[in-house]
Amino acid sequence: MITTRFAPSPTGYLHIGGLRTALYSYLWARKNSGRFLLRIEDTDLKRNSAEAAKAIEEAFKWVGLTHDDEVIYQSQRFDLYKKYVTKLLDEGKAYYCYASKEELDTMREAQQAKKERPRYDGRYRDFTGTPPKGVDPVVRIKSPSNTKIEFEDGIKGVVSFNTDDILDDFIIARSDGTPTYNFVVAIDDALMGLSDVIRGDDHLSNTPKQIVVYEALGFDLPKFYHVPMILNPQGKKLSKRDGAMDVMEYKNMGYLPEAVLNFLIRLGWSHGDQEIFSFSEMLELFDPTNINKSASAYNPEKLEWLNAHYIKNSSWERIIEELKFFDLEIHGHDRKELIVDSLRERAKTIKEFADMARTMIETPQSYDQKAYNKFINQEAIEILKKYTAFINDYAEALHLPSGFEKATKQFMEQNSLKMKQLAQPIRIAMVGSAVSPSVYDVLSIVGRADIVIRIEKLINFYEEQNV
Ligand code: GLU
Repeated sequence: MITTRFAPSPTGYLHIGGLRTALYSYLWARKNSGRFLLRIEDTDLKRNSAEAAKAIEEAFKWVGLTHDDEVIYQSQRFDLYKKYVTKLLDEGKAYYCYASKEELDTMREAQQAKKERPRYDGRYRDFTGTPPKGVDPVVRIKSPSNTKIEFEDGIKGVVSFNTDDILDDFIIARSDGTPTYNFVVAIDDALMGLSDVIRGDDHLSNTPKQIVVYEALGFDLPKFYHVPMILNPQGKKLSKRDGAMDVMEYKNMGYLPEAVLNFLIRLGWSHGDQEIFSFSEMLELFDPTNINKSASAYNPEKLEWLNAHYIKNSSWERIIEELKFFDLEIHGHDRKELIVDSLRERAKTIKEFADMARTMIETPQSYDQKAYNKFINQEAIEILKKYTAFINDYAEALHLPSGFEKATKQFMEQNSLKMKQLAQPIRIAMVGSAVSPSVYDVLSIVGRADIVIRIEKLINFYEEQNV
């Protein structure tokens, strides 16, 4: 059975890099009808872990990831970890170390002076004397010396460390009894029955330590996949400024969850040169052994492109639903389908969509200065006056864009006008700027009665400016 996990440290929100490893772990488990678990690594941090779990669950819900079982909190498992510390002490695989801070500082300075790697020298490993008074000991694990630790990483291939280069008898329990990070990760991964650990390769140097714990406790190793980092366009580690922010910020910016997931799956994994992956295709095609070996670059234009793709291909019901998040309710509008269809090729985000839709739905409160100066003059006002009169008197019903097109063409012919003399003044009157979907779509959305009101508003504004 494939069992994977996502094991965030509670930073208060889920960031985009975290979501990527969560997605990879999720897909691999679901694809294999396995289990995907969520574990909050809150032993070392003062942050409120319940809050962090809530934030993660909210983000998971938004993108549609689900986890099995209850959330596991490391902070609630201290007794369990203590049992394993005792077990290792009893078996002679770990020991109390009484070295004081001063002693350790002196040790480190001497090593640095000799240009050696700073490491604990094992001075209490075989200690049998009387412990010094007044020192609360830490517990250290016996790491093998001068041994190769090797494992087959699912992405990087064989990874091999010489213990002398990377390990010492590291602390598994602090002097106050609390267990340390690598110790508890190994225990939890083993007890949770993980078959596959997929995580960022910033954790690669932790893996040999965790393997020492696995071996000391007689646990089987999972398969490890260390995913290369996401870099910013300058080739540096992605920072908040570049987009390594709260996943929910992407929602606030108007991205659709399927675009974010599609973006993330491609950020470090590929299937030929395919760019668009539906959720079911992700499940079908994802395999962690195809994760790229090199770091991937965060590319905001690509995310925008994908978002535009998904907006273009969403049903209008879906878009109407998404617009509500931006306080736009068009469900009751009798041109709702047209509103959506007129914008689906134009908007790159749902936020932009809502902003543009709002300009058609609401009477403009002001006019874009540049467009106004360029297109609104006495001649345009005369044309608009005639156009309102024409629309008012037009004998046929006017609802659909095609009806407005027919009527407007007739108007232009009667008055020997060209579309370019009419289109921009109409746009400015209808939406307040010279940018909008097709004029006939806009007219149909605004509706006959409001067209007249909006044109009159612009005329009044012009006349007040020009008395
Ligand atoms: N808690 C670690 C982090 O948030 C992840 C540990 C792991 O995946 O092994 O970076």
